[in-house]
This record gives sequence, C-alpha cells and structure tokens, in this order.
Amino acid sequence: MSGTEHCRAIIVGGGPAGSSCAWRLRRHGVECLVLDQAVFPREKLCAGWITPECLRDLELDPESYPHSFLTFERIRVHLGPLGFAMAATQHSIRRVEFDAWLLERSGAPVVQHQVKSIRAEGGGYVIDDRFSCDYVVGAGGTRCPVHRNLFREANPRARELQALALEQELPYEWSDADCHLWFFHKRLPGYSWYVPKAGGHLNLGVGAMAARLKRRGESIHDHWNNFTGQLARGGLVEREDYDPAGYSYYLRHGVETLRLDNAFLAGDAAGLATRDLCEGIGPAVRSGLLAADAIALGRPYSLASVSPWSLENRLARNWLDRRLTGG
Ligand SMILES: Cc1cc2nc3c(=O)[nH]c(=O)nc-3n(C[C@H](O)[C@H](O)[C@H](O)COP(=O)(O)OP(=O)(O)OC[C@H]3O[C@@H](n4cnc5c(N)ncnc54)[C@H](O)[C@@H]3O)c2cc1C
Repeated sequence: MSGTEHCRAIIVGGGPAGSSCAWRLRRHGVECLVLDQAVFPREKLCAGWITPECLRDLELDPESYPHSFLTFERIRVHLGPLGFAMAATQHSIRRVEFDAWLLERSGAPVVQHQVKSIRAEGGGYVIDDRFSCDYVVGAGGTRCPVHRNLFREANPRARELQALALEQELPYEWSDADCHLWFFHKRLPGYSWYVPKAGGHLNLGVGAMAARLKRRGESIHDHWNNFTGQLARGGLVEREDYDPAGYSYYLRHGVETLRLDNAFLAGDAAGLATRDLCEGIGPAVRSGLLAADAIALGRPYSLASVSPWSLENRLARNWLDRRLTGG
C-alpha cells in the first residue's frame, strides 16, 4: 500500500447512499474520503420523489433546505379507466441540487476519480493503485466498481428484478400541481409519472421491468411515446421536442451479501429499490447510514430496517409486486 493516499474509510460514489454514509461517519469521528467520477452538481436521472421517512433519516428540515422543494398531500393514481386520489404526504426535490447539497453537507473531502480496480491487500483495500483504506463502501449505483470487483459472485444481479426507466426533467410552467402516476397503461409492465418541481420544473418518466419488456419484444421508447401522447391529449403537457434519457437499477431481492470483510455495498450498488414503487432514494440513505454505523460502532450491517416496500397497505403492495416482478 506504500505510495497510496491512505484513509480509514473510502466511499465510492457520492449520491444519496455515499453522502449519507460520509455524513454519519464524520459524525462518529471517522476519517473518510468520497471518490466520484462526476463533478457535483451532477445530473442524475430520477423523478426526485422522496418520503417523509427519508427526510427524517437525513434530519432535513424543508424550511432550511435552500433548493427546490415541493410537498404533495395526495397522489393521483390512474389505473385503466379508474382514477382516484390517494392521501399520502410525499415530497419532490431536484436531484441535481439535492445530491450536491447532501454531499457538501457531509463535510467529507471529495476527489473526482473514476474508480476502476479494487483489490483486497494486507487487511485493507487498494483502489487503482492510488488510494488505500481499511474500509471501502460501494455506493456507486448500478454499475458500482465495488460490486463489480468484490461482490459479483456473492451478490449476483437478479435480471428479473432489473427496472428500466426513461425520463426527462424539463423547465415547464406546470398548472397541475399534483403528482400523477399511471399504472400498466397500454400493457406497460410498470408505471409512468408526472412529478412537478418547485421553481418551474417538471419530471416525466416511464419505468418498467426490463425482462418483461424484452420477452415481449417491446421498447421502452414506444411506451414513452404512448405516455407523452396521452399527456398531450389530456392537456397536461403540450410539447413535441422530448429528449429523454435512460438508466436501469435493481429492486430488492433475497440475496443479501452486502458485506464481505470490511467491504460494504449500499444503495443501488446493493439493489435496494422497493419492489412495489421502485423507490431507491430512501433505501440508499438508510443503508449508507447503517454502513457508517457498522464501521464506526462495530455493529452488524443488517438491512432489516430498510423496507423492501414503499406502500403500507399489504394488499396493494403485494398486488403491485406480483404485477411487476411476478412476486
Ligand atoms: C428515471 C428514474 C427515476 C427514479 N425516481 C425515483 C424517485 O422518484 N424516488 C426514489 O426514491 N427513487 C427513484 N429512483 C431510484 C433512485 O434514483 C436511486 O435508487 C438512487 O439514486 C440510488 O442512490 P445511490 O446513492 O445508491 O446511487 P446514485 O445516486 O446513482 O449515485 C452513485 C454515484 O456513484 C458515482 N459513480 C458511479 N460509478 C463510479 C465509478 N466507477 N467511480 C466513481 N464514482 C462512480 C456516480 O457518478 C454517482 O454520483 C429513480 C431512478 C430512475 C432511473
């Protein structure tokens, strides 16, 4: 390890999982370093819908949060010909702002570096022959190099649980301030969303289970076109020049080898998004905090408190899980 920059803990990825881990580690007085390939603020494809539970975990007071923040007291759900309002307090943020703010708040030093190789050596880890550490936390999202280098065999990706999303965040003077979700529209194996943001932005997206689309020979772009056509016909959004981008991530599954010696996985790197609504920010934050507690306090790294569900209603979540993943 000689000639490397040594730190007690290195966190690969500065998204919600990595920044929460760094924030908590520093509170515990543990020296840590965040490596991210991007320069923050960076774009992140995401509807940016967060739960009250996630705010509590982050100890985030909306009054003092300095960026776009909107609260919904209900969600408008569309299911075939049915439409109803579901009472639920949820919030929207813009990821470009939120992630940069969280990372800065953590107080951890951040180095822009694209991690390629990680190897265990002398009881610690060496990263790209440039950095070394006693603990490494993989918080680099779906293609996290910590997963690729250390966990691929112990925690293989479950293809049936891969969610694929196509999304765009636009400057848009929306007039309907509710969040809308359309489930299984035109046989989409997933749902599409309309999420308004404070300050004149709007997030539109379509998410679906990749394996189901593939089996049917369907493209997510076709479903995007169905969706935007329907938005125009309904008078919600009138626009023609869309330029959506795609990303995939994994829902929670049964294989939970998320720690090997002093290496940890958190957030999307661990595949923790919920099985009913495919939400990943809350699980990323909670798992990042738990990884920090395991490192600093010697606790077991248990994700028992990271729920695989977004919805409290058991019937609704089981039904959604079956429709999305086959249960
Ligand atoms: C279109 C879409 C909509 C979504 N909407 C929602 C939603 O509304 N609510 C919700 O809760 N969840 C949503 N999700 C899921 C959510 O975005 C993720 O679960 C969440 O971002 C996971 O956070 P993370 O910190 O694990 O990973 P990320 O936020 O992906 O952060 C990973 C970081 O690692 C860095 N990195 C990657 N590779 C390397 C490398 N080799 N070296 C160095 N750094 C690297 C990246 O630059 C990035 O900054 C959505 C996902 C998609 C795709």
